Amino acid sequence: MGMCIAAPEKHLRYIHQMSDTWKVFFILSLCLLLASYILIIFWSRRHWHNHPISRALQAHVQPPHSNWRSVASHINTEFRRIDKFATGVPGARVIVTDSWVLKVTTYHVYMAAQRDCHVTVTESRQHQLNPDSASPIQLLTLRVHSINPAVRPFDIRLNSTEYAELREKLHVPIRNSANVVIRQTISELFLETFQAHVNLNQSYSLPSGQEVEPCIGCMQMPANTKLVRLCHVDGADVETECEQCFCRPMWCLSCLGRWFASRQDQQRPETWLSSRVPCPTCRAKFCILDVCGVH
Ligand SMILES: [Zn+2]
Ligand SMILES: [Zn+2]
Ligand SMILES: [Zn+2]
Repeated sequence: MGMCIAAPEKHLRYIHQMSDTWKVFFILSLCLLLASYILIIFWSRRHWHNHPISRALQAHVQPPHSNWRSVASHINTEFRRIDKFATGVPGARVIVTDSWVLKVTTYHVYMAAQRDCHVTVTESRQHQLNPDSASPIQLLTLRVHSINPAVRPFDIRLNSTEYAELREKLHVPIRNSANVVIRQTISELFLETFQAHVNLNQSYSLPSGQEVEPCIGCMQMPANTKLVRLCHVDGADVETECEQCFCRPMWCLSCLGRWFASRQDQQRPETWLSSRVPCPTCRAKFCILDVCGVH
């Protein structure tokens, strides 16, 4: 008998509790909806003047830009160029254009003008993420500070193998505060060795009237190398496979070094310095002793 009375009571109480929870949910969702409406109305006032992205853009309004729309269109123009540096997963994308450093996360867009930036390497982490390669991946954290007080500092992360590419795009010096040893790609490391060896070779003087042209590889540096068959000593019995190249100076030292590295057995870096590769223009074989700096 007691059971029969207790059961409907329990049932009623359950419905009562349910409706309470439901009420709370209803009021909460209404409040959230209202709050988001108010936020959107607030953001959209004065032509979206208060929106977080437009506020971030407003921090960069200075001549030649008269308003944040002009800053936005400048960023857009640079963003469309194919030579921008871009890395990272969609939720934390890092983009470096000719004059901007951007970090695009799910909820925020960080931006700093390159001319206002200080960039510092603050951290390095090793990850054994890639099962295909024997060497672990090194992830670098760089802090971007701006002298613009309206821009808050932010961190960008990238793989150490992308560091050289970033350095090329970033026109500001990068400080290395934590003495992080940056493990670059083997080709980048080789490039340093290549340049050091070439500097030991004798240099080549341009014939009078001939001027140094821009490198046809990068179009930026002067073409400051000339291939001269120096490893072949007249009178010596040692016959080398090197051939004389008759090309005028056409390549800069880093482009020639990259070419040299790209023609090597990638699995055996220890053989790189002693091997021969064809001239990128006329295909005459040369070795590292034959590369002369142009003066
Ligand atoms: Zn070049
Ligand atoms: Zn040649
Ligand atoms: Zn040679």
